[in-house]
Amino acid sequence: MQIISGAAVAEKVLEECRRDIAELAALGRKPGLAVVLVGDDPASRAYVRSKDKKCRDLGLHSVKLELPATTTQEELLAHVHALNNDPAIHGILVQSPPPKHIDEAAIVRAIDPAKDVDGFHPVNVAKLALEDPTGFVPCTPLGCQRLLIDAGIETSGAHAVVVGRSMIVGKPMALLLMAKGKGGDATVTVTHSRTKDLAAITRAADIIIAAIGRPHFIKAEHVKEGAVVIDVGINRVDDPTTEKGYKLVGDVAYDEVAPKCKAITPVPGGVGPMTIAMLMANTIKACKQAKS
Ligand code: NDP
Repeated sequence: MQIISGAAVAEKVLEECRRDIAELAALGRKPGLAVVLVGDDPASRAYVRSKDKKCRDLGLHSVKLELPATTTQEELLAHVHALNNDPAIHGILVQSPPPKHIDEAAIVRAIDPAKDVDGFHPVNVAKLALEDPTGFVPCTPLGCQRLLIDAGIETSGAHAVVVGRSMIVGKPMALLLMAKGKGGDATVTVTHSRTKDLAAITRAADIIIAAIGRPHFIKAEHVKEGAVVIDVGINRVDDPTTEKGYKLVGDVAYDEVAPKCKAITPVPGGVGPMTIAMLMANTIKACKQAKS
């Protein structure tokens, strides 16, 4: 059984980023990422800090806008417009979820698609469906695909079952796996909460992508011998034995599923580190594609 180390593959992606950054620097250019946070949700704040730190570690230009929870839709839109027009910024990300009074979909649509490194703008969703390589693909599924490629997992002709249909993970993951080319050409089934007899479907899978948001949901009974399992889930569960009082677990019951697998990602240290690495890669791609 192969444990696919997201940490190791993420480091490889970051090494490629460093090379690209050096090449751009030789041309007098520096990729810039702006991360906008509205409100003081602790988890969101931690994500924003780690993105900012990763940018700075790599030598990217990083702008971190921390706005109060009282920020209005109009004020937030004004910030997005300013970043759209800032030539030093190539990628813009508004951390989700914003406070309830913010219309998130309208904010996403206001971001210049050429700077939408999260890949959530309708133009980029369409480009993914159209297999247009100039588009931006959401970082988490892009990272999952990269993990499969680097682990030497053959996706061509494989039956891949994606559990979850969110716009952030499940749906773009399915589009990537069914696209033509490396890391694609799979036969894809997408399942969700209305799926009947999920276990019968996942048991037919060569590759399972679990993006459900429920701790230890995928059990041994869901997985056939020799399957590849990518666990996207990040769930907090109580654990009084830890200092924080909780631990992070995936959507897959790792201990019972791993022995049946050809390859599996752990949580933590699997998909998680890939997401931020692909965000850096997307920002560099945005810079390369930009005119300035
Ligand atoms: P969402 O809640 O947006 O989507 C969950 C999906 O799972 C939905 O499509 C839902 O179906 C489906 N689902 C829920 N219950 C069942 C069930 N009983 N059987 C089958 N399908 C079910 O979550 P996300 O896609 O945003 O995230 C999924 C997980 O991935 C979470 O744990 C999240 O924390 C993690 N995540 C990790 C990231 C990383 O960097 N590693 C990044 C993003 C997310 P329906 O559509 O019918 O409701």
